[in-house]
Amino acid sequence: MLDIKFTEAKTLKEKPADETKLGFGKIFTDYMFVMNYDKGQGWHDPRIEPYHPFEIAPGCVVLHYAQEVFEGLKAYRTKENVIQLFRPDCNAERMQDSCERLCIPKVPKDDFIQAVKALVEVEKDWVPHSEGASLYIRPFVFASMEQLGVHASTSYIFCIILSPSGAYYSTGLAPVRIYVEDEYIRSAPGLTGFAKCGGNYAASIKSGELAEELGYSQVLWLDGVEHKYVEEVGSMNIFFKIDGKIYTAPCVGTVLPGVTRRSIIELCRDWGYEVIEEKIAIADIMKAGHEGRLEEVFGSGTAAVVSPVKELKYMDDTIIIGDGNIGSFTQRLYDTMTGMQWGKIRDAKGWIVPVCQG
Ligand SMILES: *Cc1c(COP(=O)(O)O)cnc(C)c1O
Repeated sequence: MLDIKFTEAKTLKEKPADETKLGFGKIFTDYMFVMNYDKGQGWHDPRIEPYHPFEIAPGCVVLHYAQEVFEGLKAYRTKENVIQLFRPDCNAERMQDSCERLCIPKVPKDDFIQAVKALVEVEKDWVPHSEGASLYIRPFVFASMEQLGVHASTSYIFCIILSPSGAYYSTGLAPVRIYVEDEYIRSAPGLTGFAKCGGNYAASIKSGELAEELGYSQVLWLDGVEHKYVEEVGSMNIFFKIDGKIYTAPCVGTVLPGVTRRSIIELCRDWGYEVIEEKIAIADIMKAGHEGRLEEVFGSGTAAVVSPVKELKYMDDTIIIGDGNIGSFTQRLYDTMTGMQWGKIRDAKGWIVPVCQG
């Protein structure tokens, strides 16, 4: 158990009056959790203190070589005013896997969960009350040592910040248009695709900007070797429903193992669907689309839960999925996942972790 020191803020921020205007990741709460690592000493000085800027040296490792990992999860407020988390153990475990890849010392899983819970409890009044809104939790670790040689840092900071976020879909689950990226790649075997690290995102921004200029909301990433198999969509995993079966890319090093992905796979199997985690060629997806066998396509991730896709553009070919509205299967997954998260339906899976009474 961590012995977390608490420093009280002198003044508190005004809570947002209109929860429909929260957006995503724009405002931050009053407090943050911080813990330091130094070689020889291990993780030390766990504390909750007022949210404030870090002072880091211009020669700090993370600024030059991106030795950093992060996580993303949410705290939800139920009708009964209970503040709860969704599978935080999965995030704790995944952060350890990311740390391992980036040569960052691991934060013990119990400490990660304790720190998240402690900070959320302190900030429980920041968990939004309106339907679909939640408190986004962003844990991250970065190399804090001053050094320009390319070596693992010997000091790190583990921090958790919180940001109240609005309903992802202000106008319902609006299906999006997706651009299949056939030039740039996000990941390749041996690289860091499975790790949630800032470097992956740095390399992905250019494609995202280009797709947006063309009127698409996200890019669909193909594999880094043959540019042939679908892997992920933007910062989400991707699912295809073809001839009644559910397909998604396997998590074999190049794909980020999403907590939402794995939860959706379990639900689909519980409901009797066949879920196939195998390489799927983009050519086969386009073909199924033209033949009318591609029933639904959606991305999955913590922020959106599911994000239905209505159009895929690959080189000179375009397919339209469904009638432009969310498919019934995607809607069922959304209702089930959010139902559990907001405590509207019973959690038969043991995925919900209560934090405190709001
Ligand atoms: C975080 C993330 C996901 C989704 O993971 P969840 O745990 O479901 O939120 C998918 N792909 C990438 C690249 C990600 O960073």
